[in-house]
Amino acid sequence: MQAAENVMQQNIVFSEQALELQALARKIADEVVRPKAAELDEKHEYNMEAAQALAKAGLFKTWIPKEYGGHSAGVLALSLIAEELAKADSGFGVAFAVNALGSFPIVLGGTEEQKKKYLPLIGNGEKFVAFCLSEKFAGSDASGLAVTAVKDGDDYIINGEKKWTTNGGIADIYTVFAVTDRTSRSRRISAFIVEKGTPGFTINKVENKMGIRGVPVVETHFDNVRVPAENLIGGREGMGFKHAMMTLDHARPGVAAQAVGASQGALDLANVYANRRVQFKVPISQHQMVQKMLADMAMKTESARQLTYAAAAAIDEKGPNPMNSKMAAMAKCLSSDVAMEVATDAVQVFGGYGFMEDYPIAKFFRDAKILQIYEGTNQVQRIVIARHLIREAGELEHLKEFIPTETQERYGAEDLNA
Ligand SMILES: Cc1cc2nc3c(=O)[nH]c(=O)nc-3n(C[C@H](O)[C@H](O)[C@H](O)COP(=O)(O)OP(=O)(O)OC[C@H]3O[C@@H](n4cnc5c(N)ncnc54)[C@H](O)[C@@H]3O)c2cc1C
Repeated sequence: MQAAENVMQQNIVFSEQALELQALARKIADEVVRPKAAELDEKHEYNMEAAQALAKAGLFKTWIPKEYGGHSAGVLALSLIAEELAKADSGFGVAFAVNALGSFPIVLGGTEEQKKKYLPLIGNGEKFVAFCLSEKFAGSDASGLAVTAVKDGDDYIINGEKKWTTNGGIADIYTVFAVTDRTSRSRRISAFIVEKGTPGFTINKVENKMGIRGVPVVETHFDNVRVPAENLIGGREGMGFKHAMMTLDHARPGVAAQAVGASQGALDLANVYANRRVQFKVPISQHQMVQKMLADMAMKTESARQLTYAAAAAIDEKGPNPMNSKMAAMAKCLSSDVAMEVATDAVQVFGGYGFMEDYPIAKFFRDAKILQIYEGTNQVQRIVIARHLIREAGELEHLKEFIPTETQERYGAEDLNA
């Protein structure tokens, strides 16, 4: 890779189709997501009416290839939809996007038969999807999985427990990552499709969460769960870790988009409030320190949005590659940090009312935190980004003469690339 290519040059082109899907998402968000957000959050209930409206509007087809009944509209369109939904209810943004996370292993790595069997059902919204990677003892270090899948004749038998499965219980299809070869370092893990109702597959705990309460997050248990070998994703053992990493690269712009939507939703409410709340005989938006908060919120939200769109467009245009992996990590990390900062400032603009559960702004604050944790914590995103930077430093040898020579004796390019 040439050093010049380290700078992402991305033309973001919104297709007519992507803009139509965005408009549909906005309508659904206004009509059936925002009005129900507070009530369903309080009851910890899933917004099935909104999910059905998304299915009817064909929005689950967004990331499904045309050959399997989808729109082939890509990650940028998916991000535009996730943003609109999250603006109305950030919890519902993930309720939608997790279906993409769960189906990407099939889209990106599945066999022709698996794609033909499952993708049309997912696209039609007939089947919801969940992604089962994390376990109690394997979070950031996803290579340390303990759930096993053992070949038995024409089947695999899965045993163990998964943690934090978003959409668990609602989903009909689960992409499950399990160890098939304990002795291998690089080919230890394989991914499987497990259908709801398979004997031995149960949900034992529904988590009581701080935020995103409208979408269930559960523990899934596998007690001698027998699945046919046709359910091994891609038909080859040992591809699971690769499928998981490719999936996360594709899904992270969607998380970034949820964060952008959450930021915009909180900013919009703070902006409206600041223009109506009067203190010292003027709207508080006339006070410079409130203006600074609002201006910072707007700048951060817009920067996050542009990076998110660029990362999504890059994946659509160039597919999985190291630069896109770095971009996806940067978009996820920046946007979710921004969402947390913007939600915090939005509460501040609301003053005491911001701290009350009577108004949606408190929910934006509670919902924002998870964006910095799931689909790879922001520490992990920074590790991914830094590893790319260290590799790129090896390609910037021509700058060597501009750094102090005594340091070069200890840290040469070879060391940087070690
Ligand atoms: C609400 C919710 C929904 C989720 N949904 C799903 C889902 O649908 N499917 C799924 O598979 N998983 C899901 N997850 C799991 C999520 O992806 C993990 O929680 C996340 O990857 C972190 O893992 P962990 O919680 O085990 O934390 P740990 O990995 O134990 O990390 C704890 C802390 O240590 C830091 N840390 C760890 N390693 C390093 C390191 N090398 N360098 C620096 N810091 C480090 C982390 O950044 C973090 O701050 C969900 C989690 C939650 C809470």
